[in-house]
Amino acid sequence: EPTSLTLLGLGAMGAAFARAWLAAGHSLTVWNRTASRAEPLAADGAAVAATAAGAVAANRLVVVCLLDDDSVEEALAGADLTGRDLVNLTTSTPGQARARAEWARGRGARFLDGGIMAVPPMVGVPGSGAYCFYSGSRDLFDDHRGVLAVPAGARYVGEDAGFAALHDVALLSAMYGMFAGISHAFALIREEDIAPKDLASLIAEWLNAMTGSVHLTAEQLQSGDYTKGVVSNLAMQVAGKTTLLRTAEEQGVSPELLTPFFALMERRLAGGHGAEDTTGVIDLLACTPA
Ligand code: NDP
Repeated sequence: EPTSLTLLGLGAMGAAFARAWLAAGHSLTVWNRTASRAEPLAADGAAVAATAAGAVAANRLVVVCLLDDDSVEEALAGADLTGRDLVNLTTSTPGQARARAEWARGRGARFLDGGIMAVPPMVGVPGSGAYCFYSGSRDLFDDHRGVLAVPAGARYVGEDAGFAALHDVALLSAMYGMFAGISHAFALIREEDIAPKDLASLIAEWLNAMTGSVHLTAEQLQSGDYTKGVVSNLAMQVAGKTTLLRTAEEQGVSPELLTPFFALMERRLAGGHGAEDTTGVIDLLACTPA
């Protein structure tokens, strides 16, 4: 059923969310620091508020999608949040999200943090796979779940306001490891008579086949037994890394994307864990939080 809500921030992502809500028939009040960015949405039926405080006053549900945590602070500085349901889709760290939750509660608002797992063209497109992680007030999430799920799927991951950001960053971190490997792979063939598009298909197929290993890692972490179900033991893998490094050298490719991970594997092996696979590397990464 149609809902009335406010959205602060009409950048690439905010505008995509706004269009999805308008297309679904919700009444939307928008505000953007640079007013001209609201014009196309006004033409699509959005009410445009002159100030952030005015936009916040217009609706109980207030969604914020700004550049970073500092811009949220700045934009909401003069707004009365009493009785508001604040949903912050601005990318932040878990620590920033927890502090922002306290900040919002101190101003009389319920708070939900969100992490967007999509790029703007996926937003509002059924079947695109776009979704957001949400964490913080369960009541807020339950009350507004329907409208929140319009632009992108909604996955609630816990009362701890930092959990949405933590899930978001965990997935992005895994992705960057994958990007690093892909970059190295293309560098290896760059000077050869191998079509990048042919290698691309093979890389995609291989990575798909390998992603299942994530479940074995989870089981090993859960049980504490890192030798459980091992098919490629660490001793073999450390011996094999020499081939990867020598191939990089033969091809004139810097090994710098691979060596940090190999160094950790070697350290774990030196600790007497040759019968494990790479799960023990996770233990080596633990360090004192800042
Ligand atoms: P844009 O750079 O397109 O837009 C940034 C928005 O923040 C604009 O509305 C801008 O206003 C506003 N803004 C910046 N600083 C301030 C400030 N000090 N006070 C008030 N408003 C401010 O970014 P996106 O829309 O792409 O991203 C928005 C959020 O979504 C970010 O946190 C981003 O990490 C996240 N996100 C983006 C993805 C993407 O692919 N684009 C993917 C996943 C998450 P103005 O128009 O006046 O400059």
